[in-house]
Amino acid sequence: MATKPDIELVALTKRYGETLAVDRINLRIPAGSYCCLLGPSGCGKTTTLRMIAGHEEVSDGDVILGAENITRLPPAARGTAMMFQSYALFPHLDCTDNVAFSLKMRGVDKETRRGRALDLLKRVQMEPYAKRLPAQLSGGQQQRVALARALITDPQVLLLDEPLSALDPFLRVKMREELKSLQTRLGISFIHVTHSQDEAMALADIIVVMNGGRIEQAAAPREVFNKPASAFVARFIGGHNVLPAAVARAKGEGEFVAIRADRITLQPGPAPVDATSISGVTRSVEYLGATVQVGIDVAGLEPLSAVVPEARFDANPVAPGQPVVLSWTPKDVHVLGR
Ligand code: ATP
Repeated sequence: MATKPDIELVALTKRYGETLAVDRINLRIPAGSYCCLLGPSGCGKTTTLRMIAGHEEVSDGDVILGAENITRLPPAARGTAMMFQSYALFPHLDCTDNVAFSLKMRGVDKETRRGRALDLLKRVQMEPYAKRLPAQLSGGQQQRVALARALITDPQVLLLDEPLSALDPFLRVKMREELKSLQTRLGISFIHVTHSQDEAMALADIIVVMNGGRIEQAAAPREVFNKPASAFVARFIGGHNVLPAAVARAKGEGEFVAIRADRITLQPGPAPVDATSISGVTRSVEYLGATVQVGIDVAGLEPLSAVVPEARFDANPVAPGQPVVLSWTPKDVHVLGR
C-alpha cells in the first residue's frame, strides 16, 4: 500500500468580511495521528476543519495532503471524509443504505456498495442492525453508523466535528475509547474538533490549542499539560494556577508562571509565608473521590486551586472561609511565554 500522507496547513486563513476566523495558521499533522483541535467557542476550530474538508472556501494559504495541494479540490475528491456532530443520517434509509450512500452517488452498483456497507457496519459492530432505520437506534449506535458512512470512501483523513457532544457522559467516555481504537486499527489520521479538555487529553497524539483564530500550542497532551506555552493554554487546559511571575519570585523572561494544582501543598492558616508560599482564604472544597479540590482566594490574584489526595486532605482539612497557606517547590514553577 502507498505510504500514508501527512497533512499540512500552510498559512491557512479564513476571513468572513471583517472577521478573521482563522489567521495564517501553520500545522503539520503526521500520518496516522489522532489530532484534536481544542479551544473556546469562536476560536476557529470548526472553520479550520471545514477548510480541510473542502466545505469552506479558503481565503488564503494551503491545505496539503501528502504531496498534493488539495486546497481547491471539491470535498469528494480530497481523500478526506467528515463526520458531523448531528450524524446527519437520512431518516428514511436503513443503516446499510445510509452507509452505502456516497458509493451510490459515485455510481457504484447496488450489490458492490451493499457488500462494502456491510463490511463497514461489521467493523463498527453494527452488522446486526443493518436493516434498522436511524430512529430505531440509540445515540451511540447512530454514531457508529455515521462513522461507517464516513469511512466507506476509504479516506486518508477522517474529520470529526464535536462527535461526542450529543452523547450522555457515560456513553461519551465509551465512544471516546471506541474512536481511539478505531483510529489505531485503521491507521489513518483523525482530526477531531472539541471544546473539551478531557476529551482532547484522552484521545490525542497532538493537541492543537486555538485562540482567536491562531494556534497557541500544538504538542502532545503531556507536553501541553506539563509545559503550557502561554497563560492562555495553562488557563484553558485547566489544572494549573496562573500567577504573576513576581508573586512566585520566578526567574525568567515571562510575565506569568503556572503551577499545577496538584503540586500545591496546603496548610491551615494563618501561618508565616516565605518566598515559595502565599496566604489566602478557602473559597470552596469539592470532594472528587480520589482527590479533594480546594478553591482559594488570594487578594489581587485570579482564583487559585489545589488538588489534594483524599488522605492528605483528611489529615489537614480546611473549610470554606478558613485562612490557608499555599506552598510549592521552585521546580514546579513553569515560566509561561506571552
Ligand atoms: P464553536 O466551538 O462555538 O463551534 P469554533 O471554534 O468552531 O467555535 P468557528 O465556528 O470556526 O469557531 O468560528 C470562528 C469565527 O468565525 C467566529 O467568530 C464566528 O463567529 C465566525 N464565523 C463562523 N462562520 C461564519 C460565517 N459563516 N459568517 C461569518 N462569520 C462566521
